[in-house]
Amino acid sequence: MSRLLDPEQPEYGDPALRPRNLNEYVGQVRIKENLRVYMRAALARGEALDHVLLAGPPGLGKTSLAYIIAEELGTRLRTASGPTIERGGDLAAILTSLEPREVLFIDEIHRLNRAVEEILYPAMEDYQLDIVLGQGPAAQSLKVAISPFTLVGATTRAGLLTSPLLARFGIHCTLDLYQVSELHEILLRSADRMGLEITASGATELAARSRGTPRIANRLLRRVRDFAQVEGDGTVDLHITRSALERLEVDQAGLDKMDRRILQTIAHKFDGGPVGLENLAAATGEERDTIEDVYEPYLIREGYVQRTPRGRILTSRGREHVGMAVEPRQEDLFS
Ligand code: ADP
Repeated sequence: MSRLLDPEQPEYGDPALRPRNLNEYVGQVRIKENLRVYMRAALARGEALDHVLLAGPPGLGKTSLAYIIAEELGTRLRTASGPTIERGGDLAAILTSLEPREVLFIDEIHRLNRAVEEILYPAMEDYQLDIVLGQGPAAQSLKVAISPFTLVGATTRAGLLTSPLLARFGIHCTLDLYQVSELHEILLRSADRMGLEITASGATELAARSRGTPRIANRLLRRVRDFAQVEGDGTVDLHITRSALERLEVDQAGLDKMDRRILQTIAHKFDGGPVGLENLAAATGEERDTIEDVYEPYLIREGYVQRTPRGRILTSRGREHVGMAVEPRQEDLFS
């Protein structure tokens, strides 16, 4: 079964709720303001915007931002995804078909294979493709010019990008999880677009349980809407939000069953840690990458788990959440 709080799983309703321009794009203030300057400058010079790398956990608005960049530059967005570009020729075909100053979005760019990635280097640097004709000593290299373009790459794992690729992005943006007040604003707009009544306290409650992630906020809103319609008067208020989220097993802190299982596993099977990712994966039955990319960012940011060189440990907040005795601090023992 797919996970309600999975930030990775796109929603069929996502495109309808997507912010359409920078003003509608809530939060990420510094990134927005910088991009505004870079885009204005590129437009004034009549040049393609420098290549942009968007890094951050899933569901935070990387794809939305790519669409907005194209929109603000008055051009089209062409989209592709790292794992689906299998051969160099596939990428070369996309690159040669780009119009001047168009934006090419490559999602999950850390998953491009090496041969494909190498096509990108001269394309990004000099707007040209190096094509090798023939094999062996008779092989000839041919340079083909392509239109100046902007590559927007998105990644949940910036650490996996090779350094030559990383170095070719002029603009690096790391998206942060959203504040409750920002998610509140996003929820009010989503409700408006869905023609749904929502109270301020209902929106705050939902925002607080959405793990800093707009995609999750919008998804929870859709589910709570069903409860409001069937069991209430259609309005998403505090009462209906609380009872719906209880039924959906999303707790006050926005943790779901799997999050709680991770905390409980560290607490009870590993005595609060430290525990390595492999062991944690084996003990919880979840994949290592999923724990690292999907669950951990929120557990760490919210201070339930800490990453140390020896492995993951539960913080006192994490211990409290699963009802494990909070370890006395060293200083307290000797005072
Ligand atoms: P990502 O590409 O990082 O996985 P998306 O851009 O697909 O994330 O965002 C998922 C959904 O969350 C979007 O469809 C949009 O409804 C909402 N969203 C994301 N970021 C924002 C934002 N800054 N302001 C408003 N809505 C947002």
